[in-house]
Amino acid sequence: MKRITIAKGDGIGPEIMDATLRIMEAAGAQLEYDEIEVGEKVYLAGNTSGISKESWDKIRTNKIFFKAPITTPQGGGYKSLNVSTRKFLGLYANVRPCKSYHPFVETKHPVMDVVIVRENEEDLYAGIEHQQTDEVVQCLKLISRPGCEKIIRYAFEYARANNRKKVTCFSKDNIMKQTDGLFRKVFDEIKVEYPDIENEHWIIDIGSALLADSPERFDVIVTANLYGDVISDIAAQITGSVGLAGSSNIGEECSMFEAIHGSAPDIAGKNIANPSGILNGAIMMLIHIGQIEVAEKIQNAWLKTMEDGIHTADIYSEATSKQKVGTKEFADAVIANLGQKPSTLKPADYASSKPIELRKYSRKAPRNKQLVGVDLFVDWKGEDPNELAAKLQRLEANGIKLNMITNRGIKVWPEGFKETFCTDHWRCRFKNEENKEVTKKDIIDILSRSEENEIDSIKTENLYLFDGVQSFSLGQGQ
Ligand code: NAD
Repeated sequence: MKRITIAKGDGIGPEIMDATLRIMEAAGAQLEYDEIEVGEKVYLAGNTSGISKESWDKIRTNKIFFKAPITTPQGGGYKSLNVSTRKFLGLYANVRPCKSYHPFVETKHPVMDVVIVRENEEDLYAGIEHQQTDEVVQCLKLISRPGCEKIIRYAFEYARANNRKKVTCFSKDNIMKQTDGLFRKVFDEIKVEYPDIENEHWIIDIGSALLADSPERFDVIVTANLYGDVISDIAAQITGSVGLAGSSNIGEECSMFEAIHGSAPDIAGKNIANPSGILNGAIMMLIHIGQIEVAEKIQNAWLKTMEDGIHTADIYSEATSKQKVGTKEFADAVIANLGQKPSTLKPADYASSKPIELRKYSRKAPRNKQLVGVDLFVDWKGEDPNELAAKLQRLEANGIKLNMITNRGIKVWPEGFKETFCTDHWRCRFKNEENKEVTKKDIIDILSRSEENEIDSIKTENLYLFDGVQSFSLGQGQ
């Protein structure tokens, strides 16, 4: 018996979870449950994280968490429990298989079998946001080398363990040269360790277009958090319904299994939701904990039910379905098919699947880091960048000069375009004229002088060379 933690969640959560628990029990899953309350009720009772300390303890003790979707109330400072569970528990890999079940489920893409491996802990989902001026807010996009190494190596290991042929990386490294640039660089470093697996890279925009248009060209896709979130919903939806795909969230200690869709409040409590997404999450969980035979038995019964044309409303169509059923009746049909195999769709076979074990990340020797300047961000309500430059030149000292001013990344001084629209948020770069090293004290002096000159400085970013390589972006147009 394996003890796991479950949460029935919000919206359609309880219906699809109950249907899945019934199927797992009928299939002989060796599971015991600790049920915890998370989500909307907990949020609205005043807990902004949506989960109590006791519930965290249960998840951390049992290490396996099976979760129905939850509703994050809008506004009010509520933190997404999905995001915090993934991050607190170090669940770095989110694996989302999206497969079509042609000719039994209507889809424009009959030959589709894509696994999206989404980075789960960082990127814009670090949730570090600030309003800096009346007109401008910012969200920090954090990409780390350990984060990239773990997820990219996981994608290649997953491909190997599951007999997949190709890993594709999606990034936007042509624009975000530091953050997405690091993701791409690590992909290029790691791909050579897997000569048996084909690899390729697409810029995220054309890559997503190709995924939506001809998904059969992809096998495993590895990408950063936000891109992965977006493209996995697209991929699941074009298989026939977002209600079909399950997902695993894998960490070194704990794991969480769920559907990829949300709590679907629009159809909650009506017994019409498709429980297949969370059931596919349950199958991934059973494989993960070694209950392979039960996983295969459930998957085969589910595939047979798809073939029988017994479908919930989201995938029902006159052309491919025989009977429209509710959530409970769909679960009954899967239970009745336990022990049977599909005749057209490929039956499940996980006997040869191997657990994925990643080598631990080892930190590299620190590089030589040289401070060569500072970007001073300023709140200024004026319009003419020359006027701002004149004020800022009063802060120059010690060979450190104003080098450029940008507004939303576009160079406006020296020699900007008069057509460029400017907000009240200015990035003002100070550097040593001869590219020499500067000190922290120089930066503190610039800040003190900006106070004396009534310049509203809102933050600074240090400019570094790492091993002599410039490691900050230039202004657009510089
Ligand atoms: P959603 O995925 O809940 O619903 C999108 C659409 O798909 C709706 O029309 C819904 O009826 C349909 N749908 C979703 N699952 C279905 C199923 N199993 N069967 C049939 N139809 C299904 O997305 P949303 O409406 O943007 O979000 C609703 C809530 O879910 C929000 O509060 C959001 O924060 C939350 N959410 C939770 C998770 C999670 O817990 N992992 C993930 C995404 C969204």
